[in-house]
Amino acid sequence: MTYPTQPTASHFINGAYVEDDTGMPIDVIYPATGAVIGRVYSATPAIIDQALRAARNAQAAWAAMTGTERGRILRRAADIMRDRNHDLSVLETYDTGKPYQETSVVDATSGADALEYFGGMAATLTGEHIQLGEDWVYTRREPLGVCVGIGAWNYPTQIASWKGAPALACGNTMVFKPSETTPLCALKVAEILHEAGAPAGVYNVIQGLGDVGAALVADDRVDKVSLTGSVPTGRKVYAAAAAGIKHVTMELGGKSPMIVFDDADVENAVSGAILGNFYSSGQVCSNGTRVFVQSGIKEAFLTRLAERLKGAVIGDPQDPATSFGPMVSERQLGIVEGYIANGQEEGARLVYGGKRLAKDGFFIEPTVFADVTDDMTIAREEIFGPVMAVFDFDDEDEVMARANDTEFGLAAGVFTRDLARAHRVAAGFQAGTCYINTYNDAPVEAPFGGSKLSGVGRENSKAAIAHYSQLKSVYVRMGDLEAPF
Ligand code: NAD
Repeated sequence: MTYPTQPTASHFINGAYVEDDTGMPIDVIYPATGAVIGRVYSATPAIIDQALRAARNAQAAWAAMTGTERGRILRRAADIMRDRNHDLSVLETYDTGKPYQETSVVDATSGADALEYFGGMAATLTGEHIQLGEDWVYTRREPLGVCVGIGAWNYPTQIASWKGAPALACGNTMVFKPSETTPLCALKVAEILHEAGAPAGVYNVIQGLGDVGAALVADDRVDKVSLTGSVPTGRKVYAAAAAGIKHVTMELGGKSPMIVFDDADVENAVSGAILGNFYSSGQVCSNGTRVFVQSGIKEAFLTRLAERLKGAVIGDPQDPATSFGPMVSERQLGIVEGYIANGQEEGARLVYGGKRLAKDGFFIEPTVFADVTDDMTIAREEIFGPVMAVFDFDDEDEVMARANDTEFGLAAGVFTRDLARAHRVAAGFQAGTCYINTYNDAPVEAPFGGSKLSGVGRENSKAAIAHYSQLKSVYVRMGDLEAPF
């Protein structure tokens, strides 16, 4: 099968596609059919070395350019990405199985937003002047050096751009390793940056599994690691980075609460629950998978939810009419099926879905459990699939304690018409990203990231700059210098 904008080799290093078929083969599987649609090869030690050398060699000259010059390249890349949105979206759909209805509006487009935003910001990155009598200090905002980005499989274009754009704006270079499950899209990000004028070696992509990621993290030439992945992987990567006292950003998993109070608009709350559980077939880190519904609105909420779920169009994700696609892989489908069985065994009431579809590909129905209790496995563990757990609650204090009773802290949402309560609840959430009467927005202008086990650092917004640069203080003495002897 061919598809538009097919990358021509496994890796993109030093401004060119590079192949080395002595690496372990990684098949690219189209989740909607299970067919093998491509093959890349894992990076060998020689490829890893080549990529890091390229990034290291390119860094000083890239950092020496003015912010305006670097920013112009990023903004040009944003324009190219937007111009090619259709082809990139088709590729994203082949890579992930997410419906074109989604990929055409959130993947290359949000990648382009990040390139444009940080491109615009590159020229504004400055230090400050601190007067100390007649002496003074000035600070220089300097890049960290070589950054490694490691991606998850749910948003391959977006993750490659969200990490690359701020890193490059600050004058760093990058070696990005996409998830082995979705190796294609990051190569297009590299290709577009190169076409936009990024010098060779500034943004490199190499393929591989966890071992390649681990080799990158451990390498002395690397100054910073930004991971998007699960908590278990985050623990390993954070520990390995600590050995070299490297900077880290950790965007990890979640089990986020969404609270629906009796006074909420039912249609909006159901919309929030659908967006926060079934978008991308539930494969979104910030999903509000624990939906707490106050007793007075429970039946109305569940009735409307079931009615609206019948409107999901499940099928060929390349068809623009399709609104719900397959899971990314057979493995992820198996994990989700296991949790659904577990939910039934532990006594949750299955009120919608639960079954794999009798067709090729990794399709499973959007699934809703009601009467879920806090100790059930489906209430505590991240499923990363289309499985919503609905809980009952009566009062605010009780639900806040239960909502925060999790080791994760990525996101949280509240639906209510009571303004004071909305802000009180948002303030009380132990989570990095909170939503009032909405769910799962992630504009580049706002910081995104987790607290507790869900992560360290923030992506997007001005906050990301602090995670891709460091300050140097320069002390300036205007007069004579005294010494004790
Ligand atoms: P994963 O943890 O299995 O893998 C993530 C990446 O880490 C992959 O590229 C993998 O090859 C690499 N990796 C694995 N072991 C490694 C090691 N020892 N050293 C270095 N790299 C290693 O995650 P996944 O299954 O690809 O993605 C799903 C997870 O990602 C979920 O937990 C989800 O919540 C999380 N996620 C978080 C965010 C966020 O922004 N917070 C966004 C998307 C996904």
